[in-house]
Amino acid sequence: MLENLLNTDDLNFLSYLDSLGDFALFSTAIPAIAIYFLVTLPFFMVFWVWYKKEFQARRIQQKQRSNEKQWWKEIRQSILSVLIFTLIDVGVYIAEQHGLTSIYHNVDQYGIPYLLFSVVLMILFQDTFFYWAHRLMHWKPLYKFTHKVHHDSIDVSPFTAYSFHPVETIVEGLPSAIFSFLLQVHFSALIGYQVVSLVLNVVGHLGYEIIPQSWTTHWLLKWKTPSTHHNMHHSHVNGNYTLYFRFWDVWMGTEFKEYPATLQAVYDRMNQHQPEAIASQEPVKIGNA
Ligand SMILES: [Zn+2]
Ligand SMILES: [Zn+2]
Repeated sequence: MLENLLNTDDLNFLSYLDSLGDFALFSTAIPAIAIYFLVTLPFFMVFWVWYKKEFQARRIQQKQRSNEKQWWKEIRQSILSVLIFTLIDVGVYIAEQHGLTSIYHNVDQYGIPYLLFSVVLMILFQDTFFYWAHRLMHWKPLYKFTHKVHHDSIDVSPFTAYSFHPVETIVEGLPSAIFSFLLQVHFSALIGYQVVSLVLNVVGHLGYEIIPQSWTTHWLLKWKTPSTHHNMHHSHVNGNYTLYFRFWDVWMGTEFKEYPATLQAVYDRMNQHQPEAIASQEPVKIGNA
């Protein structure tokens, strides 16, 4: 195999993958893990290590419960999740080789505007899918076998984003597979969607508020969830089920009544730079899901 590679005159990444044969499918796990850390590590280092003090007023749960033990557990679960996501991608890749997907290869076929539109569409669909799948996983008979691992983290960190039970990982990976078969989607749009989705997920689990207060009164931007929104889902559990946008929680009446006051308290602290404990942020028992 190595000789073949070295003797190849027109050596490029694609011929390299071809020369590896089926092994190439599994080698996608390495770039996937690299992308995972390229997104999560900078957020973690900036907010949780290097500028922890400077960003103290932005902390959503003022009492830190998150610790090294939790982070290592989250990282372990996340690597497992990335491997499962990669296997789903490999399945899509194999289907694509057999001409079974709706993936197209030439960007010019639909143009750049459609490519960007397809990423937005996938994010919106995933948010809807997540809301309902998430509510289903909070159903008591399913909770223990799907979603409990994710809720082991009460004071969330960037590493909580992909800290899932393997069954939940498969559920979370389904939209990507669905798009590959039902939507005219370019390979780069699928990758772009997965990266955007990871970034939004990490922002939702940052543990610090980074969405500007001005967005909360803007006619359109108010629909974007601040980090506090999903953070409250981890500290209070039975509400705020959405992750990226507030639509479904507002429409279904599942947004916490305390949410506006809690968010205001975070912004007040940020404006005054005076950290103080939020009494209402005491966690409830996870078993009550
Ligand atoms: Zn949940
Ligand atoms: Zn979460």
